[in-house]
Amino acid sequence: MKTLFALGLILASTAGNAIENRATINVTQISKPKNIIMVIADGMGPAYTTAYRYFNDNPATELIEETIFDRLFIGTSSTYPASTSGLVTDSAASATALASGVKSYNGAIGLDVNKKRVQTVLEFAKIQGKKTGIVVTSQINHATPAAYLAHNESRQNYNAIADSYIDEGIKADVYFGGGWQYFLREDRNLIDEFKASGFQYIDSYKSLANLNVDKPVIGLFDHVGLPWALDDSDPHRLSTMTKAAIKQLENDQGYFILIEASLIDWAGHDNDIAGAMAEMTDLAITMQYLEKYSEQHPDTLIILTADHSTGGLTIGANGIYEWKPAILRAMNQSPEAISTLLGKSTITQHHLSKLLNFTVTESEVALIKKAKTYAIEQLASYDQLDEDDRVKITKPSKSKIISVAITKLIDLRTNTGWTTGGHTAIDVPVHALGKNSKMFAGKIDNTDIAKNIFSLLGKK
Ligand code: MG
Ligand code: ZN
Repeated sequence: MKTLFALGLILASTAGNAIENRATINVTQISKPKNIIMVIADGMGPAYTTAYRYFNDNPATELIEETIFDRLFIGTSSTYPASTSGLVTDSAASATALASGVKSYNGAIGLDVNKKRVQTVLEFAKIQGKKTGIVVTSQINHATPAAYLAHNESRQNYNAIADSYIDEGIKADVYFGGGWQYFLREDRNLIDEFKASGFQYIDSYKSLANLNVDKPVIGLFDHVGLPWALDDSDPHRLSTMTKAAIKQLENDQGYFILIEASLIDWAGHDNDIAGAMAEMTDLAITMQYLEKYSEQHPDTLIILTADHSTGGLTIGANGIYEWKPAILRAMNQSPEAISTLLGKSTITQHHLSKLLNFTVTESEVALIKKAKTYAIEQLASYDQLDEDDRVKITKPSKSKIISVAITKLIDLRTNTGWTTGGHTAIDVPVHALGKNSKMFAGKIDNTDIAKNIFSLLGKK
């Protein structure tokens, strides 16, 4: 009796599994996501998501609170470029891999190692009848978005890449980011050309709330990249732009959007932990919005990854078993903005404490003063050079030199370490949710992300 009962259970559960398995197979075979949201956090290696967890922690509780990145984590991705560029990728080669599934040389925008054009998932989605868009915090023709929209042998050809956004046919319905310098030029006004093609143009975040949903849109909000999250009028501008972009893109055929938290990488290059954490906060808020969006739109796939890690960020440097992010939570201006102000005024303990929003010591003030004196000396010797010699070197920047000292002060306070001003080859985290997100789980390569997206878009 006992045995029979057990057998009955086994049979019932086996039958249940069989039905479930069949259903799973059918879902993956016929059901593709309607919308695909690809988020790239430029430079966000695993040390950044971990640092953000500690930065975001509520110190009043014993527990270190879980973050959105923890919740959505599903695996890791390798990032190495084509062998001709060694093992450490730049953003162009990595974005080309993420966009096209092809490894290329550092600097390549949408080209393979033989400089042959490779199709991007954004281009393919457009051909499939989906709407497409890009939302970035860098200029919209910077390496990462360019690798989805353009084909050029060098990421440095900013004007040519911008021109191609018109000359090679308009590929997106929404463009949000920076870039006046490249799109409003003496020799060419690309904004007028976008308008002539039926686009609405906006140049302030405020206008994001009043867009005509029936018209494509280009919104440029600064000369080059957007201001640091710490300095911007809207510190959560990535999430503000993302919400507006998705509203524009929703349609019966679905959409593909690339969203890039571009400035995490720029903060990493500057070895600026305060700036990096503020950019991570904007990204976290964007991901929280997307998590909610996913609940209401289960037919949407959302992927977040990084193109590489930047700076060799270390949480707990110099043999000190403590990372102290508290002062970072208090900061409300970037080291760059603070340095610009200090370059123009007398440095006192009171003033520096006020700008950093935490109390600095006498010796810390002395360090910053020393940096300013050094900067003034460097500028004076530059001014004494002949014109011929001057053109050979970059003019020393007072605020840049002071800024390096400020970030150093913050590193010593928090026990933050850096090993480079460049990129590192460590694997990066992959986070995903929504329809077919399991395809991106485990240890994958950056090219797998594009390959999976192509197959979900129906490419044979
Ligand atoms: Mg980038
Ligand atoms: Zn970089």
